[in-house]
Amino acid sequence: MIPASFDYVRPGSLAEACQELAADEDAKVIAGGQSLLPLLRLRLAYPTKLVDVARLPELAGVHDRGDHVFIGAMTTHDEVMRSGVVAAGAPLLALATAMVADPAVRHRGTFGGSLAHADPAGDLPAVVLALEGVLVARSAQGEREIPAADFFVDYLESSLRQGEVLVGVKIPKLSDGWGFHYEKFHRTAQAWAIVGVAAAVRRSNGSIQEARIGLTNMGTTPVRARAAETALEGLELGDGLRQACEEAAADTSPPADLHAQPDYRRHLARVLTHRAVRTAAGAP
Ligand code: FAD
Repeated sequence: MIPASFDYVRPGSLAEACQELAADEDAKVIAGGQSLLPLLRLRLAYPTKLVDVARLPELAGVHDRGDHVFIGAMTTHDEVMRSGVVAAGAPLLALATAMVADPAVRHRGTFGGSLAHADPAGDLPAVVLALEGVLVARSAQGEREIPAADFFVDYLESSLRQGEVLVGVKIPKLSDGWGFHYEKFHRTAQAWAIVGVAAAVRRSNGSIQEARIGLTNMGTTPVRARAAETALEGLELGDGLRQACEEAAADTSPPADLHAQPDYRRHLARVLTHRAVRTAAGAP
């Protein structure tokens, strides 16, 4: 289908972009267009104006900022995947991003676009949730920081307010004793996750000190598998691991669709969590 008509502007600065958005409550940000353009074509979204943030320098690049990695919202998946700074400071993100879609989408789609779109089937929201990232948003009123736990509100709904631009995300560095893994169950190599599991595990003296687990496509938002995290805490690496990971689907409401029913998704969440935690912890 053909989108409804809209105006298009490409501001030269972030301040200008914020002004454009403040002046029209039906204006929308466009980044790589990989999710937004299909919505426009299907007329599921019909903004009056698209504010193109693709070339704003404030939203570009990956930066090592000591205790965290800052990833500009306009960084493409391909750039995230290839970044040495991400590989060193946020390896879980590099791992998961390499599993997003195909090379064509990874060259156009952006890290910020994936998060702002807030699709619970997207791989990166669950990763940012598990890594306890902090999202930085700017509007004409100023800047604010939103912890990932407060960012994803509902299906395709984030806590970004009208007029706000996502500038980038702070990913705290986890180093001593931490291991990471992302497991994705999908029909084909380039398809969306039926279920995905992001695991960050801190291990010391043969036992798990802390586990953070983010689940993809197990509800209307990405979710933390809190019950499994608690069950894993203090656990010696061994037989108890599988049993603790049985808690992974507790308190989730996975969707039913063409590919999987909720019970099957719960089963996948348990199996994939076990695999992801075992690999992240370096367990045999
Ligand atoms: P856009 O499409 O430009 O925008 C998406 C939404 O975010 C819009 O509402 C827009 O207003 C908003 N937005 C974008 N940037 C900002 C910003 N800086 N500030 C405020 N709001 C903003 N994803 C996966 O995780 N895994 C997959 O396997 C996968 N497979 C895919 C396969 C295909 C064929 C396609 C087309 C997409 C797939 N995706 C997958 C989704 C893809 O990762 C996203 O479409 C893409 O990353 C979104 O980024 P974008 O820059 O294109 O955002």
